[in-house]
Order: sequence, then C-alpha cells, then structure tokens
Amino acid sequence: LLTTTGVFYYYTQKDRHPGPQEAFDPSKKTLVILGSGWGSTSLLKSLDTDDYNVIVISPRNYFLFTPLLPSVATGTLEPRSIMQPTRYITRHKKRRVAVYEAEAQDVDPVNKTVTFQDTSEIKGEGASTTIPYDYLVYAVGAETQTFNIPGVKEYGCFMKEMKDAEKFRERMLDCVESASNPNSEEEVDRLMHMVVVGGGPTGVELSGELHDFLEEDLKNWYPELAPKLRITLIEALPNVLPMFTRELIQYTESTFKENKINVMVRTMVKEVKPKVVVVENEKKEHVEIPYGLLVWAAGNVGRKITRDLMAKLPADQNNRRGISVDDHLQMKGASGVFAIGDCTATSYAPTAQVASQQGTYLARVLQQLAKKERLEQQLQTLRQENAEPEAIEATVKQINKASKIKPFHYSHQGSLAYIGSDKAIADLPFFNGNFASGGVATFLFWRSAYVSTLFSLRNRTLVLNDWLKVKLFGRDVSR
Ligand code: NAD
Repeated sequence: LLTTTGVFYYYTQKDRHPGPQEAFDPSKKTLVILGSGWGSTSLLKSLDTDDYNVIVISPRNYFLFTPLLPSVATGTLEPRSIMQPTRYITRHKKRRVAVYEAEAQDVDPVNKTVTFQDTSEIKGEGASTTIPYDYLVYAVGAETQTFNIPGVKEYGCFMKEMKDAEKFRERMLDCVESASNPNSEEEVDRLMHMVVVGGGPTGVELSGELHDFLEEDLKNWYPELAPKLRITLIEALPNVLPMFTRELIQYTESTFKENKINVMVRTMVKEVKPKVVVVENEKKEHVEIPYGLLVWAAGNVGRKITRDLMAKLPADQNNRRGISVDDHLQMKGASGVFAIGDCTATSYAPTAQVASQQGTYLARVLQQLAKKERLEQQLQTLRQENAEPEAIEATVKQINKASKIKPFHYSHQGSLAYIGSDKAIADLPFFNGNFASGGVATFLFWRSAYVSTLFSLRNRTLVLNDWLKVKLFGRDVSR
C-alpha cells in the first residue's frame, strides 16, 4: 500500500510541477489549432512542439470527455471529473504553446489567416484579432442539429456541452421539486414525464442514466413521486441505435422495456411547445405529448464558421455533410489546412474514436513535414557550399523518403454504449467478424474502457471516486 501511494504521489507531483519551457522561436513555422475537443487534444498530446510555434484557439479552455456527459446530467459524475484543462497538456511540452480562450470567427484560406474574438464576459464583445498561420488544423467539431424545428432551441435541452448537462440537471430537479408542491394530478404527470428525442447513442445512454437515477435515488428521495416518473424515447427511424447489430438493438429494446422506458419508433417530432411536444406517428397523425423535461439528441450539423469557410472554396468544398479532405486529411482546395473530427465529411462515422485517431496521425504528419523542411534547408546550404555530390544525393534521398506520407487509416476498436441498470452493449470487431455482447460483464468492460480512455490520471481518479461515491451514498439532489 505504501509503495502504491508513493508511486501515485510521485506521478501527481510530476504532473503538477512541470519544468520550464522554451520560448517561441521566430525561425519556426506557426501552427494554429482550432478547437479543444477529441481531435485537437489527441493531436496536442502527440505533437512535438519543438517543430513549430503552436497556438491553440478554442472558446473553452478545456477538453470535455463527451461520452460521460449523460452521467454528469443525472448527477452520477461531477462536472470537473470529465473536464481537463488544455493547459494540462501544453504545460508539459518542451516549447511553450499559446492557448487563447476565444472564438474563431473566420478563416481566410487564401491569405492564410484566422480571425478570432475573446468572448469572455469580462471583455464582452471585444475587438477581433487576426493572426497568420503556416499550417492550420481545423478541428472545430459540430453543433446540435435542430432541423429548424420550432421550439427546439427555446424549450429543449441539448446534450453536447457541459452547460447542457448542467441545464438538464437543473430542469430535472425543477420538475421533481415542482411536482412535489401541491399540484393537480395531471400537472404532476406532465412534470414527471421526461422525453428524450433521438435514438442514437446519446439519446439511449441518457435514457439509461435517467432510469438509474429513478431506480437508485428518486425512489429514496421522493418515494411518493417515483411511481409517476416516466421516460419516453422518441426516434424517427424504425429502431434505435442503427449503427449497432440487430442483436444488440433487440437487447437494448428489451432492456428498455424491462426498465419501463417507453420507446416510440417511427415517430417524428414536428414541434416543441412549452409544455407539450407535437409528434407525427406512423399513421401521419399529429399527437401532442405533455412533458416536464425534453432533451434534444437528434444528431449534429456543421457550424457557421465551417459553412463560411467551405463557401470560400466552392470548387472543392461542396459536400453538405462537412469539409472534404484528402487521404492525408488536407482540406481540399486550401493549402496548409488540415481538417479533422466532426467538422469533416469522410467515410467514417463522426465519432470521438475517429477524431482522436486523426489527431494522433496528424501529429506524425506534421513532424514529417517539419523534418522535410529541415532537410530542404540543409540541401540548399549544401548546394550553396558546393558540397560533395554524395552528401547532396544522400540528402535528396532523405527528402524523398520524408515526402512519402502514409495516408490516414482508421482502425475501428468497436462501439460501446451504456443502456442503464448496470448494463452496456459492445460491438467489437474481433476475430475478423463482429463480436457483439451485452450485459453486466460488458458494463464492467465499458467502465474500464472509458476510464482508460480518459486522458489523465487526475480525471481517472476523479471518475472512479465519483462512481464509488454514488455506490456508497447515492446521487445528491441539492443544487
Ligand atoms: P445520431 O445522429 O447518432 O442520432 C440521432 C437520432 O435522432 C437519429 O437516429 C435520428 O433518426 C433521430 N432524429 C432526428 N430528428 C428527429 C426527429 N425530429 N424526431 C425524432 N427523431 C429524430 O446522434 P447522437 O446520438 O448524438 O450521436 C452523434 C455521433 O456521435 C454519432 O456518430 C454517434 O455514433 C456518436 N456517439 C457515439 C457514442 C458511443 O459510441 N457510445 C455516444 C454518443 C455519440
């Protein structure tokens, strides 16, 4: 025990007290990274900052472990447990990395500049700043798709950012506390009806977490209300989780049935009003469903800055799903720009796993490009100095080698989703075929997989601690 504590203490202190960093080097090229999500963070983690002067611009100064966001929404995890400051990574780099908490507003791919604005409350709507780049990594992600359905933005909650999870928790507790006040039966029924729109992994995981909150805590905190809580999952397609195998879809649907989560498939939300949601069912009838809390998890769409950037390159950028890139993740039509993650339109699903592999790949590409440039400079010097032909030939060979950049290859490690009551589903590409599993063992696998994917020892410790805390004391309903 003493040794473990000692090792743990050594690592935490090493993490807390980084050594001094080198300053920016004017002879190096400028690499600007937009975003602090999965793509950017895995890039930053693997990037050799000795090669470039690196600037990170993102409206939030942290990385958010999005797969566990539904757990924060229902109070299983604390917000900070799944947030990691971007400086947590950059402060350990050999050369200083500038981190600007600001919103990128415009990218000029011709003059190679980025314009951004400090949107912090203290500054208000401050003036914008424009900086040049030699290389740009465009990893701004996507935003929640509303399809311009009336009332979604006004009355629904999203599940994309930390503020969404916090708003969800506030509203959920609002509903429960209001329902505890003297009310008509009809009003209590409405307030205790939680509606989740979208049967993708986000909607399914959130429904599962909501069920856990009901079973494990609501029954104890509000025994008179617990029987009234209803969860409805609305999905436009014939089934939930279309990306999983038939077997796992059935397993999820039957688990939801056991857990009394009402799944309404082939049902399309048409409008969200303050207290009712209007849906169109299979028979094309419009039905009004009263709700207390509505969560909108109906997929993602590109951001405005991405649409604006694409509009500047109409000949090369015309895919409605997002930015088109080549095999090396170079944005088509824009020299020096790489695009990764959910803002791109590739043959892969827009998942955290893809973005993170793209980030790691790009770190290698950027290292290779820096090496190639160093060799080219070396060659120039050799020629100027009339060096031996052998030396020139050897450098040319090295340049040719460095110019051969392998294309990006995605290696699918499988898909996992938590479905509630300590059960998870896993679709794993083992043995050249799909290995599908669901159940409690898969749940333990899901937990360990997520914990090991968390980027830092600090976050792993916090998440494990939260899980233990909830097992021992239950979720807290104060706010
Ligand atoms: P999604 O796009 O996967 O699912 C959204 C669902 O909403 C779709 O099935 C769609 O048919 C439905 N929908 C859209 N409009 C609707 C309407 N008006 N009425 C009813 N239903 C409607 O979205 P997501 O779940 O947020 O996932 C986004 C991406 O992130 C996906 O690529 C997903 O694989 C990934 N992701 C993966 C995990 C995981 O692997 N555990 C978790 C979260 C997200």
